[in-house]
Amino acid sequence: MSWTLAATAGGATLGVTGCSDRRTVVVTGQVDPSRAAAYRAVAVRGVERTRQLWGRDRVSLPVRLHLPRSVSQWAEATGNPASASGYAGSTVRRPGREPVVVLHPSAWQALTPEGRAGVVTHEIAHLAMGPDRAAPWWLTEGLAEYTAHRGADDRPGRIAGSALPRLRADPPDGWPRAPADASHSPWPRYAAAWLACVFLADEVGERALLQAYAATRAGSSWERACRSTLDRPASRLHRHWLRWLEDLDEPTTEAAATERQDGV
Ligand SMILES: [Zn+2]
Repeated sequence: MSWTLAATAGGATLGVTGCSDRRTVVVTGQVDPSRAAAYRAVAVRGVERTRQLWGRDRVSLPVRLHLPRSVSQWAEATGNPASASGYAGSTVRRPGREPVVVLHPSAWQALTPEGRAGVVTHEIAHLAMGPDRAAPWWLTEGLAEYTAHRGADDRPGRIAGSALPRLRADPPDGWPRAPADASHSPWPRYAAAWLACVFLADEVGERALLQAYAATRAGSSWERACRSTLDRPASRLHRHWLRWLEDLDEPTTEAAATERQDGV
């Protein structure tokens, strides 16, 4: 598949169009064309990875990526406070408009190529999952992150980095909770949500996990969804998850020192 990159005069809009109408990524924003092209390539792979888990029809095309040049442009595009710099990507949904994935301008420097791919795929997974207010936070975010890392060569402990020892030192009583505020890195909470989904996919299978997620989207509590679709109590799964965390490989010293930044 070849792709063409077209920039309007002044660089106000960068449109990236595939050969086929069915596979199109549109990139907007006043950024360097090479950066836009790199993000576009990452998004194309992210669409494929997301489709492999969620199904081909779940990602509506074109996927729209917006790349603000400045933090103030990013805050304006997302509605987030400019201080919330720990969030590299956001999916913005506005009434009457197609959803747009907005990437923080510092994400390019702050993240490795794998990290950028993770952020973009996480957001594309949100596009596939759709607007979601009923499912538990950790399940929605954990599954978006699960989509991003599914099939990765790295072991979970290495991807989690410093979040894993923290989680082991202070294991949650319940399932992971959303970050309380924007003043701390959100990654430890996201990593916990992701690790919960890695465990659940391993324990009950991906299909069953997605069915349980669908049940929560339809209004079921997680506890009810566990009994109805997974045939076991959530409390038992939680106990097994904490035990599973203990058995995970420790991240390397280098990875443990890394404070990862990720999307929302
Ligand atoms: Zn997210």
